[in-house]
Amino acid sequence: MEADKIIAMRSDTNSARGDSTRVLILGGTSEASELATQLAVRDDLTVISSLAGRVSQPRLPAGIVRVGGFGGVAGLVSYLVDENIKVVIDATHPFATKISGNAELACNTLSIPLIAFERPPWAPKKEDLWCAVPDVQAAASMVNHKRNRVFLSIGRQELGAFSDCEAAWFLVRAIDEPNERLPTNSKLILKRGPFHLDDELQMLRSESISLIVSKNSGGTATYSKIQAARTLQIPIVMIDRPQKHNIPAVARTDDVLQKLAELL
Ligand code: NAP
Repeated sequence: MEADKIIAMRSDTNSARGDSTRVLILGGTSEASELATQLAVRDDLTVISSLAGRVSQPRLPAGIVRVGGFGGVAGLVSYLVDENIKVVIDATHPFATKISGNAELACNTLSIPLIAFERPPWAPKKEDLWCAVPDVQAAASMVNHKRNRVFLSIGRQELGAFSDCEAAWFLVRAIDEPNERLPTNSKLILKRGPFHLDDELQMLRSESISLIVSKNSGGTATYSKIQAARTLQIPIVMIDRPQKHNIPAVARTDDVLQKLAELL
């Protein structure tokens, strides 16, 4: 682990407790923060949340927070040993497959229990106009046609797949400035959710959006774009989730708490 890349932070709800069980939450989602809030107040636990550091000003979960990669499986193994972690909860984003794979390998290596949480994907309603694609590359080749005005709402990490799309026009929304080159015909808006339905409707109308590209992230924070598309009957190119876990995952935070109770 490259310790100098880690920004250690601590909020005031939790500090390391002498004989408590040390739990690592791999976070970055609202559900991970919810879990941290619930667990950080417990006297029998010390809760550490780990964030990837993708966002310049993250919303900090309750409890102890560390930010940045561990340095692959080996780095994570060292971290778990050094920090005397007894249980790992993987509540990372549904598209963050690498960290989940690393967590499985590291926990297996050390025989540390791993609780995998994965929030349910969005399911289309009968009025929705969805076309499912397996990945961002498939989405890019599907939407790159003249006259398409595309709302590109996939975060900033995989925008590079659209860099060479020269035919369509794109409205790109991300939290922070993207590192990847944006398509030639594009407009960037930097905004963080949750987003309200009225604002999404207004934006889609005022930019004359004809098509949306979204990851099937699930959850409530960005669902209003799906509702707005339904209202305006705008088609969505929906990027399917990758397989994230090789172990059974639970879909509700209550199930995580239940599993944790069984383990302790
Ligand atoms: P990833 O591809 O699974 O992880 C890449 C590397 O980032 C990991 O190997 C690990 O580095 C580090 N990492 C990821 N999550 C971490 C965590 N919670 N704590 C410490 N290190 C972490 O994940 P990603 O690059 O973050 O995202 C991949 C996909 O997920 C993208 O499609 C992205 O849009 C989506 N997504 C992710 C997040 C998020 O918060 N991670 C949020 C929204 C969307 P080391 O190998 O060095 O340990």
